[in-house]
Amino acid sequence: MRGLNRFLYYGVSCVLALTATAISAVAQDTSAIVLMYHRFGEAKYPTTNTRLDQLDAHIAYLKDNGFQVRPLPDIVAALKSGAPLPPKTLAITIDDAYKSVITQALPRFKQAGFSFTVFAATEAIDKKYSDIMSWDDVRALAASGVTIGAHGHTHPHMPALSAKDVRQDLATMMARFKAELGTAPTLFAYPFGEAGREDIDMVRAAGFVAAFGQNSGPVYAEVDLFLLPRFALNENYGAMERFKLVVNTKPLRATDLIPNDPVLRVNPPMLGFKVKDPPGSLQGLSCFGPRDERLALMITGANVAIKPDSAFPQGRARVNCTLKANNTWYWFGQEFLAGGATEGVAVHARYKK
Ligand SMILES: [Zn+2]
Repeated sequence: MRGLNRFLYYGVSCVLALTATAISAVAQDTSAIVLMYHRFGEAKYPTTNTRLDQLDAHIAYLKDNGFQVRPLPDIVAALKSGAPLPPKTLAITIDDAYKSVITQALPRFKQAGFSFTVFAATEAIDKKYSDIMSWDDVRALAASGVTIGAHGHTHPHMPALSAKDVRQDLATMMARFKAELGTAPTLFAYPFGEAGREDIDMVRAAGFVAAFGQNSGPVYAEVDLFLLPRFALNENYGAMERFKLVVNTKPLRATDLIPNDPVLRVNPPMLGFKVKDPPGSLQGLSCFGPRDERLALMITGANVAIKPDSAFPQGRARVNCTLKANNTWYWFGQEFLAGGATEGVAVHARYKK
């Protein structure tokens, strides 16, 4: 950061032609990468597992290429305040509190000097599932500086529950965390990455500072703090080629998202967003739908509108938009729920009004 500040100082004092717009564009370059893992070295579960050789390669790449692995609460605080973050800032998150975090990831991250966050669902710990951490494990992690985040009590498909049941799940979860850890978490990750606008509002009302989905893309200052993106890694998405691509992306700073609710009322939906400070011509923008199909874009100035030809399939439906400029990939991803939640679970009637 010091280097950037020095650049700005000399820029302001020496180059009179530098406009105020250019200065603020540099100063507001606030973004970071957040990674999401689940299990480590558990080959039986390829959709959530990361092989140990993959994990070792990820760690080596981050160390060899100057990435600044920071605690997630620090990054969220910077996003909230608009404070700048050093280039190559990255956070590691791990969902579901599997035991392989302790046996495999903890020693490796500790040796690398990497902090991380575990999003835990409290009921699975209470029920003492054989592959899930115990409360003693969670307390030991917290004591060693690992951030403990919340992931629901029953790990529910939140949009499938009544509002009353969502509030109850959150209240039970908070009570369990307070009883076992003495404190309540401030960061939340929606189970399955699924949340409708009402669920998001209830998570905010429960006292959380920010919440993560499972949409891809870097986090950035203008992002919705309660729909923060993360890049998911598993055996299929953990290959080095993709890893290098995602950790080196920059945000496409999308704002004014339409629709405002990830649970779709109309399918196919009419999607829209505005790009703040586009890094290059938006004519080079590509967006892909849930079947990896290229979506037709209507671009007017900084506004992007998308009208998919066909309905999104039932369940989680992701849209990813990328733009290459200045030899860098700029990325923005959104996640929707179309027709119902994953695993064939219908969304609650409150989302059908
Ligand atoms: Zn989970």
